[in-house]
Amino acid sequence: MTRGLRKQLTIAGLDAWATLLPTECSGCGALDRALCASCRLALLPAVHPVTRDDALVWAALTYEGVARHVIAAYKDGGRTDAAAALAAPLRAAIVAALAAVPSGNGGGIQLVTIPSSRLAWRLRGYHPVDALLHRAGLHPFPALAQRGESVDQVGLGREARAANKSNSLVARRPLDGARMILVDDIVTTGATLLEARRAVFAAGGTVVGLAALAETRRLLPQYSRSAQIDQQIL
Ligand SMILES: [Zn+2]
Repeated sequence: MTRGLRKQLTIAGLDAWATLLPTECSGCGALDRALCASCRLALLPAVHPVTRDDALVWAALTYEGVARHVIAAYKDGGRTDAAAALAAPLRAAIVAALAAVPSGNGGGIQLVTIPSSRLAWRLRGYHPVDALLHRAGLHPFPALAQRGESVDQVGLGREARAANKSNSLVARRPLDGARMILVDDIVTTGATLLEARRAVFAAGGTVVGLAALAETRRLLPQYSRSAQIDQQIL
């Protein structure tokens, strides 16, 4: 092969890659392959506890700015290349939730995520939180299922949303004696995690902690497309 031909093939290869790989940072839009250096820094976990009703949730990020853009792009913009950068903060939130379990009781705890509805599977083709857990080397325990197709949550107030969520989840099997940490991506009102906790309790299991990738400011919900989809499907 001549050097010229090899060069042509290499360039053709790079062009092909450019159509397959992202060319903009999913956090700020800068020309880059995936996430630029400053957006990576913005995704470093700052794990903190937040409360929703009587529940304490360990959240790694605040759902605003770069974190909001990257999470929304990961969930609903086809930017699965952001998974590695989001897996680390989710793992940090889970570690914090585990650390908060009374000492000597940390063994045998399962991680349980919120099941996607059929509509969400059709729209996304993957489970965003399960995919992050796998990326972090963790394995979710499929304890819960959606009871039926859901109600449109958009435009409903907090109490109405909570009411819609009640009994929306059900355990796949008896959970007697099982101890779990519930894991979700974005905590807004907390209604989803509280409903998951109810379903676990109803099946005889115990929830020993709650962890989330990011939390929204409770009084200032930000309705991204991603949040709207979740409210419609959960
Ligand atoms: Zn960036």
